[in-house]
Amino acid sequence: MSEAVSKTFPVEQSPHEVLARVFGHAGFRGLQEEIVNHIVGSGDALVLMPTGGGKSICYQVPALCLPGMGVVISPLIALMEDQVAQLCQSGVRAVALTSNLGRADSQAARGAIDAGELEILYVSPERLLTDSLLEQLDRSEIALFAIDEAHCVSQWGHDFRTEYRKLAMLADRFPSVPRIALTATADEVTRRDIVDQLRLERARVFIASFNRPNIHYRVRAKDNPKRQVLEFIKSAHPGEAGIVYAMSRKSVDRMAVYLEKEGVRALPYHAGLDAQTRTRNHQRFIMEEGVVIVATIAFGMGIDKPDVRFVAHMDMPKSFEAYYQETGRAGRDGLSADAFMVYGLQDLALLRGLMEESTAPEAVRRVEHRKLEALLGYCETPRCRRQVLLEYFGEQIDPCGNCDTCLEPVELIDASRETRLVLSAIHRCGESFGTRHIVDVLVGKNTEKVQRFRHERLNVFGMGHHLKDRQWQGILRQLVALGMIRVDLENHNVLRLGPRDRVMPVLREEATVSLRKDAGRPAPKAKTRAERKAAIPYEIALPEDRALFEALRSKRLKIAQAQNLPAYIVFNDATLVEFVRQRPSSEAEFAEISGVGKSKLERYGKTFLEVIALS
Ligand code: ADP
Ligand code: ZN
Repeated sequence: MSEAVSKTFPVEQSPHEVLARVFGHAGFRGLQEEIVNHIVGSGDALVLMPTGGGKSICYQVPALCLPGMGVVISPLIALMEDQVAQLCQSGVRAVALTSNLGRADSQAARGAIDAGELEILYVSPERLLTDSLLEQLDRSEIALFAIDEAHCVSQWGHDFRTEYRKLAMLADRFPSVPRIALTATADEVTRRDIVDQLRLERARVFIASFNRPNIHYRVRAKDNPKRQVLEFIKSAHPGEAGIVYAMSRKSVDRMAVYLEKEGVRALPYHAGLDAQTRTRNHQRFIMEEGVVIVATIAFGMGIDKPDVRFVAHMDMPKSFEAYYQETGRAGRDGLSADAFMVYGLQDLALLRGLMEESTAPEAVRRVEHRKLEALLGYCETPRCRRQVLLEYFGEQIDPCGNCDTCLEPVELIDASRETRLVLSAIHRCGESFGTRHIVDVLVGKNTEKVQRFRHERLNVFGMGHHLKDRQWQGILRQLVALGMIRVDLENHNVLRLGPRDRVMPVLREEATVSLRKDAGRPAPKAKTRAERKAAIPYEIALPEDRALFEALRSKRLKIAQAQNLPAYIVFNDATLVEFVRQRPSSEAEFAEISGVGKSKLERYGKTFLEVIALS
């Protein structure tokens, strides 16, 4: 590359200057600064950071500081286009070389690469690995390679892509170019796989905390999931964007119709819908304000929308990892958001059933079962949920103050007697019956089945009449979570006793069992956002502030629509909230706000200052 060309890059800029000028941020967050300095110093890196942790800055800033063009490899066109739109708004010369790009644009992009005019290039692995592009990159100056969603190299991950494996060749072909791989998938196996498969042996590994303090966690026993989720949305998030996850396509369709009927703007998303409908619903979710997507897990990667205010689960996901990933789509902008789940033992039975049917090797299935049990323990825990969640990922924290068990502490009671009753009912019934029947026996209901098996003659029959069905179900769930009871899936989900060393001490009255007092209590009404202590203030309580926020929001939407862009690309909610709180009255003050870089100041400063001045 010639001298004249490389001078078009602002190579003298320090990372801090780039961060402030381009992205409008006053400082780096968490590990960002260390990572950026490491890359700028020509090191390789593996970055594990939760969704919303600020991964893009980790490669975008070094790409702009180092001479040459940054090449970002990403698995999805939607992700690439979103990032490119954001960068262009910030005045960065970025292009996504995808099949969506017309022939002329594509040629222009290739020309810009040759002329050394492009600062950041986004590309899929397939496209990158074509001879013609590789040869072009050989001739160009490359600042770095960033491999986004790097867990795609791992067969253990949920998004395995064969082409990602071939990216190992970058190590040989571009030995002096720093490489940075990034992912939000934390587990050890995936991490090792990324290092091996991408040949990142020399990379420094950066592991950020997986805590997402702005997400409020809440779990309820499943009673009427459709209504429970509806009430949650109506009380805590009316008119806001969110995702509702359900296990089956059928329940997705039904829930979307139900919500729509109840006045919530909801759209379905699952693999059974034709591609056009899926794309349209996804687009509306991104471009419009306040749309709720009801989806199976098919709706996942590629949702970069920062202002998703809640994620609700109507069924239990199949592992902690899945739960963490799915809930992580809430509140990427750092403003307060909710993760709400209803679950029941029937979910567990169903999920285990699916696992039994799978053809995966025995060892893999055992791991899957353990993961499922860990999640059940989370659902039933009387402890801080965030503590349990993060412990699973190997992190210790103090009780968080922003989950249901912290805010409405559960009382533990000695349920040793109830536990003995349950265990003996299961035992006396020959470990051959499911939850329903065991509860009937405990409360002494004379059902047809009870009569058929003469279970009214058992000692334990009716011994549990002091509690309601629902309370017994809650106790059973907790005992499954504690491993005292096993659900036998190979055999019609009948309940069996857990291992002797757990069960016998309780039966012999040598050990006690503490359970949550609230087991089976009807779910208390979800608290509204204003009643809750939010980790990060999002509440705009004063009416005049609210009015200004709405005015800014509608201005933003107009500007975005005129450019056919999602509203958050103009400014995200976090930046709007700052406008309201600080009411900048000059361009200099406006520029101080996080999210306002030089380019956005020039584009939108005047317009937004006018709105603020009028309020
Ligand atoms: P990830 O890719 O890790 O999910 P993003 O890169 O999309 O996260 O960043 C999440 C949000 O955090 C974005 O809205 C971004 O503007 C914001 N953000 C990132 N870094 C900073 C920073 N240093 N200061 C302020 N906001 C930041
Ligand atoms: Zn907590």
